[in-house]
Amino acid sequence: KPVCLIVLGMAGSGKTTFVQQLTGLLHMKKKAPYVINLDPACREVPYPVNIDIRDTVNYKEVMKQYSLGPNGGIVTSLNLFATKFDQVIKLIEKKSENTEIAIFDTPGQIEVFTWSASGSIISETLGALFPTVVVYVIDTVRSVSPVTFMSNMLYACSILYKLRLPFIIVMNKIDVVSHKFALEWMKDFEMFEEAVERDKSHHANLSRSLSLTLDEFYKDITTVGFSAVTGEGFEEFLAAVDAAVVEYETEYCPEHDRLL
Ligand code: GDP
Ligand code: MG
Repeated sequence: KPVCLIVLGMAGSGKTTFVQQLTGLLHMKKKAPYVINLDPACREVPYPVNIDIRDTVNYKEVMKQYSLGPNGGIVTSLNLFATKFDQVIKLIEKKSENTEIAIFDTPGQIEVFTWSASGSIISETLGALFPTVVVYVIDTVRSVSPVTFMSNMLYACSILYKLRLPFIIVMNKIDVVSHKFALEWMKDFEMFEEAVERDKSHHANLSRSLSLTLDEFYKDITTVGFSAVTGEGFEEFLAAVDAAVVEYETEYCPEHDRLL
């Protein structure tokens, strides 16, 4: 059965570029992935795509037909697509003999997926049928601010508890800034506290107490540095996926609770 990777992250974190780089590198390894674009509003898809939501729903038409704004149009398009998700499953199953990885690129705005019925339907369906892993892409460059880093981690944490699937954090754009600082903050609470103290923003007190809460979360997840531009971090990412699949099989497997 192929591993399903659901690629999530804030707008501009580099999800699409990440999928593009990952797809290219897997092709070179003769492990061509099955790639699904779930972003109805993207202008172009820069990777060879097997299923493209834009072939099924035209989000501009959806906006017109239901008198919606851009966000409503995107959410409704994803909802319409989710009603046909059984067909996507059939296609993945058909390919399962010669495909090891299926990759899902998601809409630019993260909440379209994480706060919609269709996002839950899609992730729950995949999680019940295939080893499924959430890949949470973070813009490392923007995360050098401790408060931004903290908000991003809290968001990741809330998704983890909502989706209940193995989770990999990809610190993207390490060609610009190394993610070493983030690893230190996650490992050592006091390092983070020092960074917060240097940052004179109003939220410093809040960040300090929240980071204690996040400590438990950090222990549970794998963090990998990556550059979607250069491909650095690829092997480490594949190793993290392998470990996540083991975790899925031992802790998340459908027999345990999903289908009860
Ligand atoms: P998405 O909204 O999450 O799909 O983000 P995109 O993949 O469209 O990327 C947003 C911007 O970040 C684009 O200008 C990309 O070229 C840039 N970008 C993405 N990944 C990287 C990376 O690893 N390094 C650098 N330097 N830029 C990146
Ligand atoms: Mg994108």
